[in-house]
Amino acid sequence: MKTRVDKRLEIFNKYADSLNLLIKNGIINLKLENTHTYICPICLTQFSEQALIQSLENPLTLEDVPPVSLGGKSEILTCRKCNNSCGQKFDHHLTTGIRIVDDSEFIPGTERNVILTKEGVDVNAQIKVGKDGLINVHIPTKKNNPEKLKRHIEKIKKDDEVQLINYSNNFDNEKFRMGLLKIGYLMVFKKFGYSIILDPIYDPIREQLRNPEKITYEQNYISTLPIMGVECVALVIETGFESMFSVFSLKASDIERPYQVFIPLPGKPISEALNRFREKYKSDKNPSLEMKAMNNSDYLTNIEAIKNMLNWINYLAANKN
Ligand SMILES: [Zn+2]
Repeated sequence: MKTRVDKRLEIFNKYADSLNLLIKNGIINLKLENTHTYICPICLTQFSEQALIQSLENPLTLEDVPPVSLGGKSEILTCRKCNNSCGQKFDHHLTTGIRIVDDSEFIPGTERNVILTKEGVDVNAQIKVGKDGLINVHIPTKKNNPEKLKRHIEKIKKDDEVQLINYSNNFDNEKFRMGLLKIGYLMVFKKFGYSIILDPIYDPIREQLRNPEKITYEQNYISTLPIMGVECVALVIETGFESMFSVFSLKASDIERPYQVFIPLPGKPISEALNRFREKYKSDKNPSLEMKAMNNSDYLTNIEAIKNMLNWINYLAANKN
């Protein structure tokens, strides 16, 4: 089995070789500080192979796209600063966000802690959804203040409605969305390496991921079309919507949740396309978009495939609409 050390070195070599191939073929023009260089896709700092030594202050680390807890794998590297600062800020909200969606569906065979509230008196409870879908609510005396519990029970009459509050763990929907943006952006890097992401059009995404406390990037970049079972980056070729589309699914339970993130093409601002998509989505909950699935070529090593893909992107980015 590959160790984490082997894995880091393998990824480093793969992307560093690809970077040299792009420079040699004149596809990107960049001065490298070392002949063998890995650029962190989030802060764009250049790293030499030395940076694989984990005892350094800011080494290159394995980055899971999506987070492992939601079904992802580590196939790229980011520097520790970016991995820690972005990862910790988003992963918790991603996991909680997916759980909230799961909880709202009362999936048979699940159980969770909730708060029951009646006329302002809250009690801690556990909900168990049986395999047959029957919901059982248990209010443990150990986890409740006896006085409060008594008042709560006194307030409930037969057939009364009780409000249920899911534990939200300080859930922040904006960070959930940024977490999805990060996955979508890093999927583009994972597939296409440095041929695309060094373009300044991606600076606002990087800026947002590095500074999640303030919303600075676009809205409407997420869609939840029911595209299941595929993980890919496609090109949206429909006139007026030209962009890239990262398709993936996340799961916190047995249920996979499909997500897609629109990512701009180099040289093509995306605001208009996102607004148009939002309008389209309003009138049609399953809007279709004309796509070109990128085939299985290796866009890190196959120079013909890279040129072909860049031709497509330049063609789409030049469309006036
Ligand atoms: Zn970094």
